[in-house]
Amino acid sequence: MEDLFKKIISHCKEYGFIFPSSEIYDGLSAVYDYGQIGTLLKNNLRDYWWRSMTQINENIVGIDSAIFMHPKIWKASGHVDAFHDPMIDNKDSKKRYRADELIEDYLSKINEKIEKEILKAQKKFGNSFNIDLFLQTNLKVKEYKEKYDSIKERLKQALNNNDLKELKNIIEEEKICCPVSGTCNWTDVRQFNLMFSTQLGPTSDEADLIYLRPETAQGIFVNFLNVYKTGRMKIPFGIAQVGKAFRNEIVARQFIFRMREFEQMEMQFFVKPGEEKKWFKYWKEQRMLWHKTFGLDDKFYRYHDHEKLAHYANAATDIEFLFPFGYKELEGIHSRTDFDLSSHQNYSGKKMSYFDPDTQESYIPYVIETSIGLDRLFLAIICGTYKEEKLEDGSIREILSLPDFIAPIQVAVFPLVKRDGMPEKALEIFEMLQPYFYTFYDEKDSIGRRYRRMDAIGTPYCITIDQETLTHNTVTIRNRDTMIQDRVAIDNIINYLQNKLCISNKLKIIQQNARMALQSL
Ligand code: ATP
Repeated sequence: MEDLFKKIISHCKEYGFIFPSSEIYDGLSAVYDYGQIGTLLKNNLRDYWWRSMTQINENIVGIDSAIFMHPKIWKASGHVDAFHDPMIDNKDSKKRYRADELIEDYLSKINEKIEKEILKAQKKFGNSFNIDLFLQTNLKVKEYKEKYDSIKERLKQALNNNDLKELKNIIEEEKICCPVSGTCNWTDVRQFNLMFSTQLGPTSDEADLIYLRPETAQGIFVNFLNVYKTGRMKIPFGIAQVGKAFRNEIVARQFIFRMREFEQMEMQFFVKPGEEKKWFKYWKEQRMLWHKTFGLDDKFYRYHDHEKLAHYANAATDIEFLFPFGYKELEGIHSRTDFDLSSHQNYSGKKMSYFDPDTQESYIPYVIETSIGLDRLFLAIICGTYKEEKLEDGSIREILSLPDFIAPIQVAVFPLVKRDGMPEKALEIFEMLQPYFYTFYDEKDSIGRRYRRMDAIGTPYCITIDQETLTHNTVTIRNRDTMIQDRVAIDNIINYLQNKLCISNKLKIIQQNARMALQSL
């Protein structure tokens, strides 16, 4: 899996998806730039999310708030006091870790051991294998399980109580070592605030200290009244936003999975107090269904319900994705209560309540949040679609089986050979398609190599102009995944492609899912 991940990272660089930031100056840690192909894919993913939220749901609108915001916002949101992670340094390797993640990784290893034992027993006992009985009676597994449960409980308590000493105790007692030095020579655990700060204006006194936003959500909360009043919104309604967020992550590894500058796509859904559980369930399901529209295997996705809730939440779940380095959070769905709006009301002195015209009641709405990292979604889609396929002639083709509707280059046009009037005809077709699709023209190298280059960036269709084009006005359209070629009349190309590349087919599914769930709410 590590090899696969390395391959994916170099693939992203080689084909213009992602470059390390400031590369000619040896890069900047955990900051990345999107290249010419990556930007197109990222735009398509963002657009899909945006339209799924604001186009399909008549009660969700979008805004674009500034990155700089009044510093009191971060006091009100709790970020100044509570947005920190517990960090620990290994004195020998000088490497820094998140203490909770070191323990989580250790727990995963115990879990792996349990799974190994189960597999072994499954093989041994075949059809007569009873997993419940096995878990209850196998001494080794029982021991692992008890250890797992006890450490997990201690971790949960320590995090809930901000007990940094206890985190260190767990690490020392379990002899959790630094993966680099292999030693257990640790510093104490300390809290580290993840917000970047800077100064606004020409003077440098305390009052001018501001933060780069660590999430886009607060821009939505502080605009709640503006949107509710000017949009004449009726609860339940949502406000969506996409934008950059900044976090000075302690450990920023794993390529674009954890960056210090990244993009978030967040939607805050305002509901009547008391109805939050039902809407939490609704969004939890809808967001999973949304991910499934990319057509990847179900095994890539799973829920992870939170045990430790953030200071503002009364329920929370993650949609996790199976990255090459394991299941990790892709999206968070949180029931944030009225924490944010109430807190902004306290700090700003402005009334943040909603007046319900039907019941004549006034209340501060509760909020369900869906929050996903655009870069993480990008990585998930690349990891889930990158393949190496062995062909009949023994050669390997690298292929990104991106869903058609998000492909960066949607169609490529090639003359079979560079003579006999084929390039001229190909250019004519290329220009015909340009206003409709992201189209790429190529006449260099053999046709096989041109196909391979398109497979590698996920182009779903390649049009080839051959002898028959000149005589019969038809072209071949090659499907990236099946490599099957259809012969299509030039007049029909646009229609043929539009049917396949159209995002509306996916939006229709989103709409149907929402309608069905709303009916049974
Ligand atoms: P994690 O536990 O991975 O640090 P988080 O719980 O802090 O994530 P949230 O605050 O819920 O994350 O942020 C919502 C989403 O934003 C995450 O699900 C993830 O997709 C994305 N995200 C958060 N931090 C980063 C980061 N440093 N780089 C890229 N994406 C991020």
